[in-house]
Amino acid sequence: MSRVYNFSAGPAVLPEEVLREAADEMLDYKGSGMSVMEMSHRSKVYDTIIKEAEQDLRDLMKIPDNYKVLFLQGGASQQFAMIPMNLMKNKKAGYIVTGQWAKKAFQEAQIYGEAVKLASSEDKTFSYIPDCSDLDIPDDLDYVYICENNTIYGTKYKKLPNTKGHLLVADVSSCFLSEPVDVSRYGIIYGGVQKNVGPAGVVIVIIREDLISEDVLPGTPTMLRYKTHADADSLYNTPPCYGIYICGKVFKWLKQMGGLEEIQKRNIEKAQILYDFLDQSQMFKGTVEKKDRSLMNVPFVTGDKELDAKFVAEAEKAGFVNLKGHRTVGGMRASIYNAMPKEGVEKLVAFMRDFEEKNK
Ligand SMILES: *Cc1c(COP(=O)(O)O)cnc(C)c1O
Repeated sequence: MSRVYNFSAGPAVLPEEVLREAADEMLDYKGSGMSVMEMSHRSKVYDTIIKEAEQDLRDLMKIPDNYKVLFLQGGASQQFAMIPMNLMKNKKAGYIVTGQWAKKAFQEAQIYGEAVKLASSEDKTFSYIPDCSDLDIPDDLDYVYICENNTIYGTKYKKLPNTKGHLLVADVSSCFLSEPVDVSRYGIIYGGVQKNVGPAGVVIVIIREDLISEDVLPGTPTMLRYKTHADADSLYNTPPCYGIYICGKVFKWLKQMGGLEEIQKRNIEKAQILYDFLDQSQMFKGTVEKKDRSLMNVPFVTGDKELDAKFVAEAEKAGFVNLKGHRTVGGMRASIYNAMPKEGVEKLVAFMRDFEEKNK
């Protein structure tokens, strides 16, 4: 068996320890005589799995008691609709458009009401986060929506926007559990887990309890009401059982390591290695404004498409895979999520240095 260094933006690298443990438990989970994939979601043994997963997540993120944790399906993209359906009481919400995912959410909201674009960085290919300290925010907005880490472009809010008293809703898909977070500043904080937390198929929604109500837009399907899932502790219907089980293992892996303060320290260290190299390289250049750089997704280019392609091909042969950038940015992107070991980043930088030397 040989594992590669996988820089995929998602689904992405998972901790090797977690994969090994899951493999050990594949045929017989803790004496149950069956795999977690095969057991009823109503069984006692599964109940322990989902309850422990929730408690570990609460411990890690220090989630206040007045927030519900929901394990749902439909990906982050389904939340683009679910959020307006459940929260757009005045039929008006504000969106800060910092990339494709924020834009998709903004466009989806227009189906349900008036979506106001409060700010955008599209003028410079989403290579920065706009100043959100004093935006012109209409009083009657139901919420202000952001995408906190822009997976495709590699930018991250270093400071949350000043919403002027309005509810903040954030998509944290690609920075979930990468650093400590003050949940109380958000009305909803949510993410698809396949970037930094687990396998595709689970989206975690952390929602303040007072936002969960029967008062939703007319026509909202039962399955798309937060109340349906909150009332049933995420077991209204069959949840993505196996995915939740793996997420639970990742939560324990993080707790054992020392929690979100520790993973943040490691993430800063890892990203620094790559950014320091980019800043002194004559060949490779980062594509975003330094002050807005993401710790998770690092896009870079050589400025020459053929050289980019050559780099990606040679890197792959050397065991550094999925480095091709998103089609809208071009070049390369290294996603260095929680589970990417520091050694992987060091080796990538050594490979880049060598490539630069040979292709001067
Ligand atoms: C990947 C991603 C999405 C889309 O997630 P799906 O689960 O595929 O719907 C949304 N937002 C962000 C920030 C992402 O990185």
